[in-house]
Amino acid sequence: MSRFFSSKYSGLVPYTPGEQPQDMRYIKLNTNESPFPPSEKARKYSAEALEKLQLYPDPECTRLREKLAEILGVEPCEILPTNGSDEILNFAFMAFGDEAHPAIFPDITYGFYTVYAELNGVPYREIPLKDDFTIDLSDYIGANKTIFIANPNAPTGIALKRCDIEKILESNPDNVVVIDEAYVDFGNESCVPLIHKYPNLLVTQTFSKSRSMAGARLGFGVACPELIRDLNTVKYSTNPYNINGMTMAAGIGALEDEEYTRANCRMIIKNREYTSTELKNLGFVMTDSGTNFVFAKHPDIDGGKLYSELKSRGILVRHFDKEKISEYNRITIGTHEQMEAFINAVREILGQ
Ligand code: PMP
Repeated sequence: MSRFFSSKYSGLVPYTPGEQPQDMRYIKLNTNESPFPPSEKARKYSAEALEKLQLYPDPECTRLREKLAEILGVEPCEILPTNGSDEILNFAFMAFGDEAHPAIFPDITYGFYTVYAELNGVPYREIPLKDDFTIDLSDYIGANKTIFIANPNAPTGIALKRCDIEKILESNPDNVVVIDEAYVDFGNESCVPLIHKYPNLLVTQTFSKSRSMAGARLGFGVACPELIRDLNTVKYSTNPYNINGMTMAAGIGALEDEEYTRANCRMIIKNREYTSTELKNLGFVMTDSGTNFVFAKHPDIDGGKLYSELKSRGILVRHFDKEKISEYNRITIGTHEQMEAFINAVREILGQ
């Protein structure tokens, strides 16, 4: 730390992103990316947008919001596109967290929540999940706090039912409840339709997973117009052009190719079922995943050891040092061929 670094950040522990190795080609099952390329129109429109790079992009993302609104069944004024869903999550901490509105979220969840809380000086409490990694609803009912819930959760993959989220929304009318739906497209109920019923609901989603656009950085929030206005105040006070022209064009293209996205999601779900079955046959214990990853441990091999053994065989998965989950690995679901290679490597490591 230099002597110039602001004292308000001196204790900040930044988020550690998953490895993006540049040294060799791995079968990359570590950061929940899609194994499929972006849609044809996403690629075509972003290539066309290159011709207009001398101009600033539309700060209001008008066409992108219109297209998204059509697909989600909401109004364009109920959507705010952001630079990945990470940015809308940061905006939410900035806009809806303070001393009077401390944040709560599970102890095992997306690691950025603590970082954003720290960064923005928002007091927060991490609420332990139950031993089976499910949420104890009673911790959130009437909590009177700003609530962040990834649904399905990461890295556990477990989803809460929409009717349970409604109980949280109803019992916290004076606080914003943020439902992070980064993985919603892999077979789960979205809370987006609830924004018309609950003025305290913000739903966040991303183009990084189901729409194969992690490299473009595109996410968005959906909420009632009043919440979106607050979030826009934060956006226009930080980076009005938060979505670059190529990304915006790619996003519109991806939405015009929605059937491609749906087909890819169906394929990931099929490959997830294959992977889960094979891992269970090999003796793994796993959570019930509604995402594009599985979360698994084996009684005979330490989580960190399995991670290293796989890496030495050219397969990257994600291991977290956090004590409660250090026996586990999170394995992104790739193509069927990738998952076969992964299962074969695991079989070899276990000597089965
Ligand atoms: N929420 C969750 C639960 C995630 O796992 C991720 C991806 N790491 C994000 C949000 C952010 O994704 P992105 O910024 O790529 O939209």
